[in-house]
Amino acid sequence: MKFQSFLIKYGEIALKGSNRHIFEDALLSKIKYALKHADGEFEVTKSVGRMYVEGLTDFDSDEVVGLLQKVFGITKICPVIRVPDDGFENLKGYVLDYVKNAHPELNFTFKVDCRRTRKNYPLDSQEMNALLGEVILDTYPNVRVDVHHPDVLLRVEVREHFINIYSQEIDGAYGMPVGTAGKAMLLLSGGIDSPVAGWMTAKRGVNIDAVYFHAPPYTSERAKQKVVDLAKIIARYTGKIHLHVINFTDIQMAIYEKCPHDELTVIMRRYMMKIAQKLAEDSGCQALVTGESIGQVASQTMPALCCTNAVCTMPVFRPLIAFDKQDIVDISLKIDTYETSILPYEDCCTIFVAKHPVTHPRLDVIEKSERKLDDVIEPLMAAAFESDEVIVCEQY
Ligand code: ATP
Ligand code: MG
Repeated sequence: MKFQSFLIKYGEIALKGSNRHIFEDALLSKIKYALKHADGEFEVTKSVGRMYVEGLTDFDSDEVVGLLQKVFGITKICPVIRVPDDGFENLKGYVLDYVKNAHPELNFTFKVDCRRTRKNYPLDSQEMNALLGEVILDTYPNVRVDVHHPDVLLRVEVREHFINIYSQEIDGAYGMPVGTAGKAMLLLSGGIDSPVAGWMTAKRGVNIDAVYFHAPPYTSERAKQKVVDLAKIIARYTGKIHLHVINFTDIQMAIYEKCPHDELTVIMRRYMMKIAQKLAEDSGCQALVTGESIGQVASQTMPALCCTNAVCTMPVFRPLIAFDKQDIVDISLKIDTYETSILPYEDCCTIFVAKHPVTHPRLDVIEKSERKLDDVIEPLMAAAFESDEVIVCEQY
């Protein structure tokens, strides 16, 4: 069956009171942005608590639904048939045609749910429900009414200038439109966790920038490309991501040479956080995001997380903090980052990792070890910032 348009429902935005238009405008622009990547031309309009996407040319329904399902803020996507408001007798005919085309097996239970925005329609909603239900029953003998658990909930909406008929509701991504909740800097590695952490934060409306620390020649171009690819996948949901690639080799080497090896990971992580925070401040981000989860590895025990966190004055969001690995994997499969994340390229943390990393680091001990870097760290940090390469990662 060919649909000309989609009715877009959104949930939480409707609760935003006087700021509601800000959220609606953001959603509208995100929908338009997503549809730029579809074949065809579309008009997106706002209309009393919902939006419509109308195809102005031919389009591939599955492609459009797939793109809309990546727009945070949308709760339901309903493919609708829009018919003229030209009398109730005609409406009966449109409804019968719709039922036959949309549910050709013609063997199901149903309920009619009519709504009227145009309140001066000659029949009220209850009368419409009853009369349309009756004509469906009379026309299709194997169709039955079930008002409690219908297989098909047939919705008929009388709007100001036309009538919508639909019975299908496809789940959207939920969340809030990206850009309505500030911006955060994601520490994006090539692993499974950080892309998921970025996606989850974006889902709450937060714009995402990202930073990746690489360590050439110990980490390869392919490892870097993998991170770029991951950023592009996340960008399908968030829109453009500015990915900062920082050369971390010399800092890592200095830590390796001067600090106790069992503390390497924690110290390294602290320098990553310091650099990320400066980049975040410079680019208007209000928080950092990592993929850390309590107890997942030695550097993510509670004492290790506390040591890492101690260098940050900015809030650090760790959306995965209480997630099991399998839950994280499930999300990464759903958002399509998993296959890329498991590609076997080296990560800077795995190359310089100690055999027996300290699992209960003490902040005073770590800080003392870091003092061994005093003579060298300033120019190394300056050089790291100097190395900043910004890659704009966009959908596809
Ligand atoms: P991930 O799957 O996200 O790599 P992980 O389980 O491998 O996480 P760690 O390697 O301990 O965990 O990293 C913890 C967090 O630190 C990551 O989720 C990420 O946010 C950040 N991080 C680690 N390595 C890098 C890197 N090379 N560049 C940027 N951020 C990194
Ligand atoms: Mg990792």
